[in-house]
Amino acid sequence: MSAAVDVDVLVVGGGHAGLAFARLLAVLGGGRRPGLSIAVLDAGDAPATAPDAEVGLRVVALSPGSRTILERCAAWPLLPAQRVGPYRRMVVWHPAGAPDGAASIHFDAAGQGVAELGYIVENELLRAALWHAPGGGLQLLPATKPAALAIDADAASVSLAGGGLLRARLVVGADGHASWLRQALGVGAQHRAYGQHAVVAHLASERPHDDTAWQCFLPDGPVALLPLADGRVSLVWSCASARAAGLLALGIPEFEREVTAAMGGVLGGLRLTTQRAAFELAAANAAQYSGLRFALIGDAAHRVHPLAGQGVNLAFRDAVVLAQVLADHLALPHADPGDPLALRRFERARRGENAATISAMSLINAAFSSSVPGLSRMAGHGLALVDRLGPVKARLADMAMGRTGEVPAWVRRGSAS
Ligand SMILES: Cc1cc2nc3c(=O)[nH]c(=O)nc-3n(C[C@H](O)[C@H](O)[C@H](O)COP(=O)(O)OP(=O)(O)OC[C@H]3O[C@@H](n4cnc5c(N)ncnc54)[C@H](O)[C@@H]3O)c2cc1C
Repeated sequence: MSAAVDVDVLVVGGGHAGLAFARLLAVLGGGRRPGLSIAVLDAGDAPATAPDAEVGLRVVALSPGSRTILERCAAWPLLPAQRVGPYRRMVVWHPAGAPDGAASIHFDAAGQGVAELGYIVENELLRAALWHAPGGGLQLLPATKPAALAIDADAASVSLAGGGLLRARLVVGADGHASWLRQALGVGAQHRAYGQHAVVAHLASERPHDDTAWQCFLPDGPVALLPLADGRVSLVWSCASARAAGLLALGIPEFEREVTAAMGGVLGGLRLTTQRAAFELAAANAAQYSGLRFALIGDAAHRVHPLAGQGVNLAFRDAVVLAQVLADHLALPHADPGDPLALRRFERARRGENAATISAMSLINAAFSSSVPGLSRMAGHGLALVDRLGPVKARLADMAMGRTGEVPAWVRRGSAS
């Protein structure tokens, strides 16, 4: 690309957040402002159309609310059914007790009046479904790296590393937790390292996973086994960074023994079937989500501990709200998509839930992995208490399933209003 290209909205980052936002805006905003032009650039290549034979190492737990959003993006049908692992139960416990004893909490789909509590989906398949979803109105620019940003009264201009210039009335940062755009804007982020890494791998289990997400809160962090569609389980073991390095370095039989013991043998013996990898964990919240000609969504705006699998779910809700705020605004004659007052409505709507989730996850992680004598055990008793407190438990289930009132009617009904 050598000449300058003008668009109404430029999304930097074609990951889960950026693609969902662009698709939703094309659906809703395109109806209200015919000819609305939207481009999405990503530093990486376009995802492959056919999935790899091997199940990807990175998976996410999606809420039913996120499924509804993906259906509205026309992306859900592109996920191969044999690679989507629905889960119908969630069991969380403290190692002082047993998965079915005191100090545990149980959720099941039937009790919540739903068919599934959520779905385990590979990150790359999810991104591919959003990238290749049918529906026009989007210009997708893979392997395109931004190099410099300038914002003035008329446009946000992004110079590209390979030459060329993209000018937009609004630039949306969806380029992940190390967001280039957020840094180019000079927007700070409150950042807190947990001193933990998450070790991930897929394992075969002696006993069937029973479509259940299993999670045990060990003293240095939660360890979870998520049910994969092919019968295996996906491990997400959040633990002190030094321990994570040690787990990666262990021989395979020793690693298998450690994981089996960490989960209290809940699924019998576990056998490693893939590579292992580790990801650093941190919490972050950007000082601003919006301003003149910019908005930030997904991990570019906030980062949350994965213990309750909320990162993508929050990112999708950012995408819905920003698309709706913009579409409403663009219905006004001559409205400017980069208007900071309109964008502020998005920030006001989203900051509360994101901040509350970051704090709740940090608090849970700190309480269970506390070195304060007795605190972790007290948190374990708290689990049992919550399990018996109907309304509190129902509220937790609503949050986990993305039923917090954030999915508006135009997304649920599948018809733009
Ligand atoms: C171990 C682990 C387990 C998790 N489990 C869950 C879970 O179960 N459920 C859940 O909801 N969340 C989970 N999360 C969180 C989730 O993965 C993230 O919140 C989510 O992927 C964020 O999506 P995003 O689109 O904002 O960012 P990303 O997925 O990071 O996408 C960013 C995109 O921007 C592109 N990009 C980056 N830099 C540039 C640049 N300079 N220029 C152009 N493009 C760029 C990248 O190529 C990428 O495509 C987990 C996270 C971890 C670490």
